Amino acid sequence: MMKAICVFNQKGGVGKTTTVVNLSAALGLKKKKVLVVDLDPQGNSSSGFGIDKNTLEHNVYDLFINDTLPISELIYKTESKNVDIIPSNTALSGVEVELINIADRESILKKALRDCKDYDYIIMDCPPSLGILSINALTASDSVLIPIQSEYYALEGVSQLVETINLVKKSLNKKLEVEGVLISMFDGRNNLSLEVVEEVKKYFKNKVFKTIIPRNVRLAEAPSYGESIFDYDEKSKGAIAYEKLAKEIIKNNK
Ligand code: ADP
Ligand code: MG
Repeated sequence: MMKAICVFNQKGGVGKTTTVVNLSAALGLKKKKVLVVDLDPQGNSSSGFGIDKNTLEHNVYDLFINDTLPISELIYKTESKNVDIIPSNTALSGVEVELINIADRESILKKALRDCKDYDYIIMDCPPSLGILSINALTASDSVLIPIQSEYYALEGVSQLVETINLVKKSLNKKLEVEGVLISMFDGRNNLSLEVVEEVKKYFKNKVFKTIIPRNVRLAEAPSYGESIFDYDEKSKGAIAYEKLAKEIIKNNK
């Protein structure tokens, strides 16, 4: 059974893209067939997989604007085992405006992904906003994975985030669930990080993943080589954590 998960938090810099790339790579190494959908005009998950996003013939923009093109034309292979991607680039930034007068504009992605049933997981990278691209991702997903950075303002904006999820659940996608809340960039030497974990657990209760992603410089370096952490440094703390997260997700979905 295919499972579609969107990685969503309207805050930037919380670890969405890092999670999309490395969770997908980890699932691929566990013999799961994964399709990454990059929905951020910045295209960071595309470049994180070493995709030269500006020279490709097609990208996710076509999915929203050019509905005569079969989705198979938009899918590219990555160097990561079992991971394909629908890449993005800055062309996508105009989409919010271009779709204003389109009927059912919240469900375009959902309809397009109906033809992608051969994958075990579809993992979507959302832009840092609550606009039409994120709404499309939430509408097309079975569940949402929420990364939260362990820092002072961790829970700022969270009520808005939860409200958006509930709104989509009510009106567009009744089956939408929370896959889990992922604490990212955790620094165990820092009391604040420990406090944030407690605070997040108080708020989200049993929805918080057991796996916590540590702050690890190797995770920040890998994208500039266009590699997942497993190709860049498979023994790093970051690689170990994302492998554990993949295991936890597979187990939760059995
Ligand atoms: P988002 O997609 O939510 O904007 P990113 O995944 O791009 O967030 O992460 C923001 C920045 O933090 C990036 O430079 C990334 O390399 C870095 N980063 C993300 N996770 C970690 C981590 N666990 N340890 C160290 N750096 C990280
Ligand atoms: Mg990002």
